[in-house]
Amino acid sequence: MDHITCLKCVKCGREYDVNETMYTCLACGIEGTLDVVYDMDVVAKRFLRRIKKQTEVCTPMSIWKYIDLLPIQDERYLPYLQV
Ligand SMILES: [Zn+2]
Repeated sequence: MDHITCLKCVKCGREYDVNETMYTCLACGIEGTLDVVYDMDVVAKRFLRRIKKQTEVCTPMSIWKYIDLLPIQDERYLPYLQV
């Protein structure tokens, strides 16, 4: 996941390694949702062409077409329902 720079708390700005925590800031609790900060140079080089191609094809309207960008390490825990 070298395309992800860090996870950043929307409340206090504290930054976490993508492997350090799951969804919320350890200092702010549930109010500290973590934004994913991407290395856009890596994203541009590695993913944009593929994502554009996927969205041009008739793919279902689903967040999972962006799965390669998301900070998901184990796809076994993805929900079965459309998100
Ligand atoms: Zn925080």
